[in-house]
Amino acid sequence: MTQSPDASTILTGGCLCGAVRYRATGAPNATSLCHCDSCRRATGGPSLAWAIFPEEAVEIVAGTLAIYESSPGVERGFCARCGTSLSYTRANRPGLFDVTTASLDDPEACPPSKEIWTRERLSWEAANPALPQFARFSTPGS
Ligand SMILES: [Zn+2]
Ligand SMILES: [Zn+2]
Repeated sequence: MTQSPDASTILTGGCLCGAVRYRATGAPNATSLCHCDSCRRATGGPSLAWAIFPEEAVEIVAGTLAIYESSPGVERGFCARCGTSLSYTRANRPGLFDVTTASLDDPEACPPSKEIWTRERLSWEAANPALPQFARFSTPGS
């Protein structure tokens, strides 16, 4: 059974090939499911779930993130060998480091609590009526 993360939780994750591994300590500040076009292109999937941590809570413990600047000031981290999308940081939102929820070893530990950028959601992907829906960002911090 999956326990909700708390301050003592250590979450681990990594890419498909195993070259890049990370560890996150404590519960995420926020979680979301993003429907933006940029997340879609970055992954080839219809949407992308994020777990947002203080940057000091996340440590790369194996391999090196390759970085692609997908918009000015936005850096997406991925494995250069297998291509798995792993991280997101934004210069105008310093101090936070997002990891892709589905790259966690236990993605059930941090389910999305809201859906964002629903204005760009694909018509064939159903919204989850149990979650708050935001046309763009929900708050300046997300
Ligand atoms: Zn890899
Ligand atoms: Zn997005």
